[in-house]
Amino acid sequence: MAVPAFTSRSRLLLFAPHPDDESLACSILLQRAVRAGAAVRVVYVTDGDDNPWPQRLLERKWRLNAADRRRWGRLRRTEALAALRVLGVNGSAARFLALPDQKLTAILMCDAQSALERFAAIIADWNPTELLVPSISDAHPDHSALAVMLRLVLSESFLELVATGQMAVWSYVVHGKSSAFFDRAETICQSRVEAATKLRAIHCHKTQLKLSRKRFLGYAGRRERLIKLCACDKTIGEGSIVSVSRLARSLRVEVRFSPKAMRLSEPTLFALGRGDAGALRCVRMRVPARSSRVEMLDSASLAYVAGAQYCGNAFAAELTIPSSIFSSARAIFIKLERRSWFFDEAGWLEIAPAASQPIAEADRDEVEAGLATIR
Ligand SMILES: [Zn+2]
Repeated sequence: MAVPAFTSRSRLLLFAPHPDDESLACSILLQRAVRAGAAVRVVYVTDGDDNPWPQRLLERKWRLNAADRRRWGRLRRTEALAALRVLGVNGSAARFLALPDQKLTAILMCDAQSALERFAAIIADWNPTELLVPSISDAHPDHSALAVMLRLVLSESFLELVATGQMAVWSYVVHGKSSAFFDRAETICQSRVEAATKLRAIHCHKTQLKLSRKRFLGYAGRRERLIKLCACDKTIGEGSIVSVSRLARSLRVEVRFSPKAMRLSEPTLFALGRGDAGALRCVRMRVPARSSRVEMLDSASLAYVAGAQYCGNAFAAELTIPSSIFSSARAIFIKLERRSWFFDEAGWLEIAPAASQPIAEADRDEVEAGLATIR
């Protein structure tokens, strides 16, 4: 079965976007790694300090300033260390990077390079045999953005270790019900004792239980699930994205919104990848779900919407993004951002390099003609 089997020679490295993710999604795995005598490191990417509602409630303070958030972040670190102790992990195994909470998507889209270098150094330093990372399908934008950053790091610096099996990479979901994840994930069976220990670890996150007690404690009964990352993973459309085709010079994304979803704020399509010179390139494109007009949205990058139409009440459109700004040898990541509260409708999709996909001549001509019309 494709789940980690730890031994005393295993070196586990867990990337957690926030303090509590270790308990919610990886408690059973951490207990097993400890029992096997594996070396464990847990990296908390943010302190979970931008968490205003529980803080307002617990501290009885409406306006929160930077000092308040830092204090809250320190409290959440303390809770994470307590949870790790319950799971048998020494506090010295934890590292806190203090990247800005709730802003990992902004970092990914604007200025990810220094974060990528930091993650690469951490992985190289720990040299894990088992690497646990969030899934790009997670509905929390911090989780999915961190997942994209780690996929970039792995494909650029650790491809050989992953390909040869020296480093097994596993992804986990905390938030949402992504079918791209849950339909393919392996379930970890848990004993009663392991589940009880997991519940005690979750109880250490008192700040999070204040407003979401039922949801948080529910994780104790939910089986942990993992997908082993593999280069041959197929892209599966999710949320409002029905299909994606990577053609010679463009990326075509077919979207469909339900009438209910259309009442939410205007969605934005993000596309991200490496350019030919190696720099990260990003495209943002607003999708006018309330209008049936065919509209060019970003003249600089020649992204446009074609074939927009209403089918009954639903809105369907084909979005075209020029992919010539991206290296054809690298993956492109896309996400349709549509938030409700702070959760996304769906996470990111990874589109394999164009070089690995056969491109029909007819498609090539059609795409070139389309871009010429826009120019
Ligand atoms: Zn989290």
